[in-house]
Amino acid sequence: MSPSPWTEIAHNVFLRRHDYLDVNVGLVVGEHQCLVVDTGWDERHGAEVAASVRGVTSLPWQVMLTHAHFDHAYGAAAFLPATVWGTPGCAYWLGHLGDQLQARVIGELRTAGELEVAERVAASRLVPPDRLVPHRESVDLGGRSINLLYGGAGHTDHDLVLAVPDAGVVFWGDLVEIGADPAYEDGFPRDWGNTLSHLLDTVEAGLGRISVPGHGSVVGLDAVEEQCERHRRLAWFLGEGRGAGERNPDDLVRRGLGSGFSEETVRRAVERLLHIEQ
Ligand SMILES: [Zn+2]
Repeated sequence: MSPSPWTEIAHNVFLRRHDYLDVNVGLVVGEHQCLVVDTGWDERHGAEVAASVRGVTSLPWQVMLTHAHFDHAYGAAAFLPATVWGTPGCAYWLGHLGDQLQARVIGELRTAGELEVAERVAASRLVPPDRLVPHRESVDLGGRSINLLYGGAGHTDHDLVLAVPDAGVVFWGDLVEIGADPAYEDGFPRDWGNTLSHLLDTVEAGLGRISVPGHGSVVGLDAVEEQCERHRRLAWFLGEGRGAGERNPDDLVRRGLGSGFSEETVRRAVERLLHIEQ
């Protein structure tokens, strides 16, 4: 029998890490229900994740999507029938925009030479969340209540965070990435830092001492606070440049480097900012 892919990071809270994109999937187990946090990058992979959940618990599952990016959301069909939690924005992306965004992902994967994943993504049915969280929702898993939180625009316009108060755990989705710079392609450079800051204020004291990023290893709250500060600095520097009427990307990138992020990340953030504000 192969070893379990799940690591227990707190009492009855599990993490499954992957070499592919260093992406994380979580599992929170209560007395009557369990909740799966993100679903893997395609339906076949989702089925493998679902089977591995059964190696941990036989309880009925619910699913939560942190956001609609393929590497987090495209495995959801493998968990049906199930309650699927997400923000209204996530439902819009996977429902209304689903075909268009799936085609974009397939194209990007093919361009990157990832043909097998591209085919698997193409064969995946997208599942928009059917239980929507506009701001905040508590879910009782039996003996354990968890909180789903939307803090505003950041990595996307619809990132959902999960807090497990009794365990001190927060699943941040891609609002926090460890081991790689934050992905700004669909992000909001002016808002990301404030959104993280707001969420850090919202989650109860002590929560997030076990912080799970969307990609990379588990960290403490200090690492999240540090990332939050960098995003806020980037927003400040870019805001200052835009306030001075700058539109030249190179000028804005020069300012944004004061954030501490890499030049590549700052450039993506600048491109995105100019795209949003055009
Ligand atoms: Zn993402």
